[in-house]
Amino acid sequence: MPSGLIVKALSGYYYVLPEHTTELESIQCRARGIFKKRGVSPLVGDRVAYELTDNGEGTVMEILPRTSELIRPPIANVDQVVLVFSVNEPALNLPLLDKFLVHTESAGLETVICLTKRDLWASPEAGEEEASSLDAASVPQSLDEVVRLYESIGYTVILTSAKEGIGVERVLERLSGRISVFAGQSGVGKSSLLNAMIPGLRLETNEISMKLGRGKHTTRHVELLRLPGGGIVADTPGFSQLDFLQVDADGLGACFREFAAYSSRCRFRGCLHLHEPDCKVQEAHGLGLIADSRFSSYTQFLEEIRDQKRRY
Ligand code: GDP
Ligand code: ZN
Repeated sequence: MPSGLIVKALSGYYYVLPEHTTELESIQCRARGIFKKRGVSPLVGDRVAYELTDNGEGTVMEILPRTSELIRPPIANVDQVVLVFSVNEPALNLPLLDKFLVHTESAGLETVICLTKRDLWASPEAGEEEASSLDAASVPQSLDEVVRLYESIGYTVILTSAKEGIGVERVLERLSGRISVFAGQSGVGKSSLLNAMIPGLRLETNEISMKLGRGKHTTRHVELLRLPGGGIVADTPGFSQLDFLQVDADGLGACFREFAAYSSRCRFRGCLHLHEPDCKVQEAHGLGLIADSRFSSYTQFLEEIRDQKRRY
């Protein structure tokens, strides 16, 4: 039986892109009734076995095992998240980046950090007023420093400008062979970046939706897009609900990758790295081996998690 990838689900139809062929057109399929009875439904991103019917359409016969399942947006088998943050307009918000990283780490998803609007970075020489497009609370003071910090933790960081066509090739390379979703605040340039990567794609960008007097991505369906480099990407951003941290206080430290080298040597098992004696994470922070901005994100999130607990 042939297999394929569901790239779109709409009005009871699943659009299946055949695998192991050079076929570019997806096949419009219905799902077998048995799925409904079992209470499972195929998701965009599912690999499925299908059968062709006489009218050129198809029937989804079986859902192949999933490796992951995102709730929002509902996509199966996502294996990578591209965190998109603009270096300016809106200003680079490192605490928010750290929060997104907690989400991707706790979900066990590969993460790439993409810093957009490179052309809008105001260097310190540009004058007082523009001196920092970084959040005032952030410690790194230059873009280089930000890139080095996150690279040293182990993330791939790509600087891009959709406007000037910078970094787009590198993003394409990194997306090759995987299913990825983009995540990031509205206005950071996600749609512009996708448009720059896919010839002929014209996702609505902010200035257009503002002209039309409506927000973007309001009642849209999810669709997977094929990239020229062989990757697949969702056209809708992921993780829209970020106000709620879904990790326990105990698990938070594990979402800060650079803590691992030290936390295994803390005196107490379950050390929260706050005021415990013989805490190697605090020690590493004191020695400058863990960045201030990261450690302060950690303590801030810990507080948020405790507040959440109190409220619910
Ligand atoms: P999204 O909400 O994350 O999808 O962001 P959009 O792609 O709609 O972009 C938001 C705004 O930023 C639009 O006005 C874009 O024209 C602008 N923008 C996007 N990428 C760049 C860039 O690389 N440089 C500059 N200067 N502006 C950009
Ligand atoms: Zn500790």
